[in-house]
Order: sequence, then structure tokens, then C-alpha cells
Amino acid sequence: MSADTRGQAPNPVKLPIYMDNHATTPVDPRVMEAMLPYFMEKFGNPASHSHEFGWTAEAAVEQARQQIAALIGAQAKEIVFTSGATESDNLAITGVAGACRDKGDHIITVITEHKAVLDTCRHLEKAGCRVTYLPVAKDGLLNLDELRRAITDKTILVTVMAANNEIGVVQPLAEIGRMCRERGVLFHSDAAQGAGKIPINVDQLNLDLLSISGHKLYGPKGVGALYVRSKPQACVAPIIHGGGHEHGMRSGTLNVTGIVGLGKACEICARDMEEENRRLAALRNRLKEAILGRLEDVHVNGSLEHRLPGNLNLAFGHVDAEALQMGLRDVAVSSGSACSSASIAPSHVLKAIGMPENYAAIRFGIGRFNTEAEVDYVADRICKTVDSLRELEPRESGVGSQ
Ligand SMILES: *Cc1c(COP(=O)(O)O)cnc(C)c1O
Repeated sequence: MSADTRGQAPNPVKLPIYMDNHATTPVDPRVMEAMLPYFMEKFGNPASHSHEFGWTAEAAVEQARQQIAALIGAQAKEIVFTSGATESDNLAITGVAGACRDKGDHIITVITEHKAVLDTCRHLEKAGCRVTYLPVAKDGLLNLDELRRAITDKTILVTVMAANNEIGVVQPLAEIGRMCRERGVLFHSDAAQGAGKIPINVDQLNLDLLSISGHKLYGPKGVGALYVRSKPQACVAPIIHGGGHEHGMRSGTLNVTGIVGLGKACEICARDMEEENRRLAALRNRLKEAILGRLEDVHVNGSLEHRLPGNLNLAFGHVDAEALQMGLRDVAVSSGSACSSASIAPSHVLKAIGMPENYAAIRFGIGRFNTEAEVDYVADRICKTVDSLRELEPRESGVGSQ
């Protein structure tokens, strides 16, 4: 090796780097392989009960139901297939409001929920329901005493997400579930980010309804599931009417290919969760230490202790959110701020945890296919970009963008 090439390792990473796995994940190759036969050879409709094509499709759907149920400690018959977590959230919340009208009209949720939950609640308020939106503390966690005080005789549903899509904060589902069960209130959780990432057992957590999305756990887009407890039966009125598929809760010909992929994705998550989480937590901590070790005035948004292993959300002082986003062209991460700007919508989550308006947030979603070399590259890229922006335009902390 000649002296001038020594120490010059070839660039180990391929650009751009994808580190936005809370927005969506790539399909795992094993998932795609499982799906492929169901596009052409095994294309039958699982509702066709009179021939082999239908039976083959039905068997595949039932296997997927088992795989999904196994991930969350449910029974296969309690899984309802949907088009994704948005639909699952809509079905769970609107469905309970419709089915429990004689019992009550009050729903409790949290202000840091996904829009699929919040907008459904807002819609139901227009239809006469009452909704309590609980605040969160600086660490992103709800207060269990506040939840206890919010439950009334008219409360029919508590809906609290398993893990937040921006700050990765994991809510205390076991305590919430216990409280709901004691008070006879149904408990729903949007687990689009939590399912397959953290252990979830619907019996241990006293969950009655749980939303899952395919494309957040290395399955395909456009497919999801809603777990609906059978004992005691959680009553859910349908929002899509038709052929009476899925016990009448969700009509429409099943997306067999997507369902097979979702099932396989859940099976892989269930099997590899512990090991994958150890690896993701190590990468996340490496990224955090590399950035916090080099830059001043950087803070972690949300609890580090109660958090998804692959999530890091950092608040950078003395830097403009938009300028930071522009400077990170070769790394796919998500930018956020607590105030409006031209290209970055204000985040209701960052506002809720009290992130100051003059800070710029970056969400890192580290996933199954990210490597240590990518983490090192991203850390370096972030530090260089923030340094150069701060040199270019020194800003007073506490003053700045509106
Ligand atoms: C992505 C996401 C959704 C929406 O899921 P889709 O399957 O894309 O409809 C809902 N809730 C949370 C927390 C999410 O992260």
C-alpha cells in the first residue's frame, strides 16, 4: 500500500442514506419473496369457496392472521384486515362510538396522537361526541392521575398510542389498560410504531383494540390490521359496508398479497425483536453520543428511557430548521419545528412537549437496514452542517425565527 492511499478508506456508504424509518420502511426481501406467488399463480379470491384458487388464497390469509395474532398475543379470529393504520384507527374509534351510543359519548385521547386518531376524534365531536385531549409532560408521557380523573360514567373509549411517531416515546400501556378494565372502558392503542418494535401482549396490557400498519414494520404499504377483542367482545360498528367480509366489520375483497406480506413481516419481527432492538439501541446511542459530544446546545426531545430503540429526536439551538433541512440533502431524515415556516409545518408533538420555537428538530428513524458506517456518516454530516450554519449566521438563543 503506498503512503498516499493509506488511511483513505473507500467511502463505505451509499448515498443518499435512508434514516427515516418512522415515515415508512422498505419491504424486507423475505417479505417480498413470500408475497410474489400471490400476484399471479395464486391470485384467487379468498371469498371463493367453490374452488382451489379460493381455498389457496384463504389458507394464505388465515396463515397471515395467525402470524399477526402471534406477534401481539391474540387469537387469529380477532384480526380484522384493513388498508393501514389510518383506517384501523378510524374503524376502532368511529366504530366504538357507533356501537356504544347507548352507554356513553365520551372519548379520551392524548394531544400527541397521530392525526389519524386526532382528526377522527375531531370529526366525532362534530357528530356530538365529547372528547378529552390529555396533555403530556416535557418527556412526552401522559399523566396517569389526569387520565384517572378524566374517566367518567359516560366514557366509552380511551385511545393512547403505543409509541409516538415523532419522538418515539412509549406510553405506559399496562397501567392505562388496568385502569380502563377497572372502569369498564374500552382501550384502543395506535401501535403503528410500536407493533413489531416493542413487546405488546393484548391480554397482559388489557387492550381491546390495536391498530397495526404493514409499511412501518418492513411489510408493504396499503395494508394493516385492527385487533378486536373477542372476550369480552369489543363491539365495533363498520365504517365500510358491503359483502360482509371480516365478520361484517370491514367489507371488501381482501388484499391477499399485502396480507401475506404483513403476516410474514410480523413473523420476522416477533422472532428477531430482541436481537434487533439491541442492535438498534446501540446504533441510536452511537449517533446520539457522536452528535452530543461534538455540538453545543443540542437536546434530546422526549424521554430516553421510555422510547423506541431506533428513535432519536434532537432539538438544535442557534440554527434555522429550514436551513438545516436544506443542508442535509444526502441524508433522509425528518425535520421539525414548533412553529410554522415555509416548508416545515409546525409539529403538534414538539409543541406539546414544550420545545422552544427557536429550536430546529431532526427525527432520526434508525431501522433494520441501517449500518454503523451510515450512523457515523450521518453524525458527521449533521455536525458539519450545524457548525457551518452557526458560523454563517450566529443567532442568539431565545431570539430568532418566529
Ligand atoms: C404511520 C402511522 C399511522 C398511519 O398508518 P398508515 O398505515 O400509513 O395509514 C398512524 N399512526 C401512527 C402512529 C403512524 O406512525
